[in-house]
Amino acid sequence: MGLEFDYVIIGAGSAGCVLANRLSANGRHRVLVLEAGGSDRRFWIQTPIGYGKSFYDESVNWKYTTEPEPGINNRRSYWPRGKVVGGSSSINAMVYIRGHQQDYDDWLALGNPGWGWQDVLPYFKKSETNSDGGNEYRGDDGPLYVNNVSPQYHPLCQTFFEAAQQQGFKYNPDFNGESQEGVGFYQITTRDGRRMSAARAYLHPALKRDNCEIITRAQVSRILFDDKTANGVEFIHNGKTRQIKANCEVILSAGAINSPQVLQLSGIGDPVMLKGFGISPRVDLPGVGRNLQDHLDYCIYYRSRVPTLNNRLYPWWGKMLAGMRYLMFRNGLLSLSVNQSGGFLRGHPSRPRPNLQMYFAAITYTTSAPGERPLMQPDPYPGFLNSVGQMRPTSRGHLQIDSPDPIAPVKIQPNYLSSEEDITQMLEGARLLRHLANAPALAEIIDHEIKPGPSVQSDDELIDDIRQRADTVYHPSCTCMMGPDPKTAVVDSKCRVYGVDRLRVVDASVFPTVTSGNTNAPTIMVAEKAADLILA
Ligand SMILES: Cc1cc2nc3c(=O)[nH]c(=O)nc-3n(C[C@H](O)[C@H](O)[C@H](O)COP(=O)(O)OP(=O)(O)OC[C@H]3O[C@@H](n4cnc5c(N)ncnc54)[C@H](O)[C@@H]3O)c2cc1C
Repeated sequence: MGLEFDYVIIGAGSAGCVLANRLSANGRHRVLVLEAGGSDRRFWIQTPIGYGKSFYDESVNWKYTTEPEPGINNRRSYWPRGKVVGGSSSINAMVYIRGHQQDYDDWLALGNPGWGWQDVLPYFKKSETNSDGGNEYRGDDGPLYVNNVSPQYHPLCQTFFEAAQQQGFKYNPDFNGESQEGVGFYQITTRDGRRMSAARAYLHPALKRDNCEIITRAQVSRILFDDKTANGVEFIHNGKTRQIKANCEVILSAGAINSPQVLQLSGIGDPVMLKGFGISPRVDLPGVGRNLQDHLDYCIYYRSRVPTLNNRLYPWWGKMLAGMRYLMFRNGLLSLSVNQSGGFLRGHPSRPRPNLQMYFAAITYTTSAPGERPLMQPDPYPGFLNSVGQMRPTSRGHLQIDSPDPIAPVKIQPNYLSSEEDITQMLEGARLLRHLANAPALAEIIDHEIKPGPSVQSDDELIDDIRQRADTVYHPSCTCMMGPDPKTAVVDSKCRVYGVDRLRVVDASVFPTVTSGNTNAPTIMVAEKAADLILA
């Protein structure tokens, strides 16, 4: 084998960047990160609204597509994932949400000691510097800057809050504070008008140390073992296969799609499936690639009687003005996320906690499959949208290699809406969107509902429309589940892969269940905690 390091981290994504920083901090360990993508020093990665460009840009994006999905009328879902330094945190929509406190108590109850809310709260705080300062819930000296940019948001957000309050929902000034419930503004991971990816927060500072290095455009093809002990990795770089030795541990942080892929390529997974591809099984772990969970989102579009962001961003001169403002002052629309406000609400009073997440946007745009329509091209008339998704789906999907070739994409089957419960909750969501639109504050400014439109009224019609139009909000997770039983789980509560030594998985794939909200902050928390477990 060639070079030697103490820790080899596979993937410079949300989790990998945190690990690189924390594991190299004491100066004693030599840390190497191997990243399949290239540099993040690109204008459209650093610029928040560049989201719309990176979304389809194959030079920074894996651009996955699922198999045809029966639950959404056999449509294939387009799944962007970051293939660049910073991983998906370099191409995501920057919304900072930790999830519901009970999510983590659920993880604990599923047999994962150390992962309850009181255990993980210190790690959320440790990672964060909040622009509003710290308190019992928020951090004030962590690497990840979390920004309250609400003064820059569109005034229509206030109209949405008013409508929600008219229907009996409360305004929540901080979704990540004492309670998640209510409507409010989204805080985002930006600083001084630039994206605060995990690379900017954690990796770039760590790379200034002598003991932390990265090799980009290095795609790991398999983990190397001495019997049952991981001792290195094999990767493809500049068309050549190379090997590197790991003296302490190999840490797999390639994300919810690629971490299970690398395990399977290394002989860890369902032995029958692996043999089918000519791969000799090393560990019988049938859970690898199973338990796939994701958030679906359903959107209603409205034509508005008052101007919205469409009026500012559709004309070429509007785009130019926004661009000039950004270049001169680093603020304005280009410095923000597309998701400005939303909420965490109960679709029915019987729900014990919020089961739905909402995104309200003073703009109409679509996230279609590649080639259909640019993401950032709004409609030529005033319009806005409100969308809703079920936060704790019960449907479970799976993914697996489709070839022994490490470059070939995996086969993804999310099994969206494969349970009655999920259909019930999405229908609750659709009804809730309509209920909010009927509140006086919104009714007054709605000219008409564009999509699905007034012809869609009955439960069956709404369910048909959900199946026809709902799509991912890019939170695949749980494919190397943490849990006590190796018959279903892949890692234990210390993120160690069952059946082998010196190999951990640390990223969104180890979530036992998907969290109630966006998944970047929880992934960073998982890596913060895992770093302590590794160093211990
Ligand atoms: C379009 C989009 C919008 C999103 N919006 C939000 C949002 O607004 N808020 C939020 O909280 N979350 C959002 N998310 C989700 C969030 O960004 C992810 O859940 C999170 O970044 C996952 O982190 P990770 O470390 O598990 O994986 P990733 O960040 O995806 O990192 C995995 C890394 O491993 C690399 N890699 C993969 N395979 C290999 C290999 N074989 N060898 C070497 N390197 C490899 C990848 O290139 C990548 O850099 C969004 C995601 C997307 C794609």
